[in-house]
Amino acid sequence: MNKARGLLSLSEQDLGIVRAQKRLDEIPEKHAVLELRKKIREFEGVRVKAQAYVDEARRMVSKDEDEAASLDEKIETEQAKIISGAITNPKELQNLSRELDALRRRKDKLENTTIGVMEKLENGTAQLAKIDKAIAMAHEKEAALIREFQAKGGALQHEIAVMKGKRDALAKGLSGDLMERYEHARETKHGIGVGVLRSGSCSACRMELPSERVQALESGPDVAVCPNCKRLLVVRVAEDHE
Ligand SMILES: [Zn+2]
Repeated sequence: MNKARGLLSLSEQDLGIVRAQKRLDEIPEKHAVLELRKKIREFEGVRVKAQAYVDEARRMVSKDEDEAASLDEKIETEQAKIISGAITNPKELQNLSRELDALRRRKDKLENTTIGVMEKLENGTAQLAKIDKAIAMAHEKEAALIREFQAKGGALQHEIAVMKGKRDALAKGLSGDLMERYEHARETKHGIGVGVLRSGSCSACRMELPSERVQALESGPDVAVCPNCKRLLVVRVAEDHE
């Protein structure tokens, strides 16, 4: 392969590699995964609050249950006293009976508040289950997106490896001096190291060159330098002789 053709093919591979790398960085699934992770963190924040709500409701239910048990015990004790017949003083009996009524009223009142707290606990638990389901679904989606990203990214990475193999083989066919000039131009000229002279213009910087410059280039070697952008400039691609 002649120098000019080799240089152009090399440049083509290099541009392909850059493009593929950019696509790899811009795979939509990558962005989607990041967005989803943000959402999961939000869900987890809500879950902490819901859990605290449920814990508080559970604590209140348990407190009410303890209080109810203690009231039951007192009621039983007072009832036992009345039933035992040990107390005969009517005044004392009346006091006991009054106390028993008061205890029963407290128990009824407590039962009402417990119903409210139980409802709170039920709602909170349902809410928590809903959040857990949303988080699980988000994790499932995240896993699918990651698989998709790897499928797409894997193909791109393979493409890049193939192009790199081709570019290395092409680079070996070019002189060290030419490669050095090419790499230098690429580094300093936005990744494009070589232009082609086409209808009097450099394809890389798109500058229309003065006709005497074009004439000088056309009567010179196959690979020259663009007088404007200083990139390598392929003046003509000669037919291969081999
Ligand atoms: Zn140029």
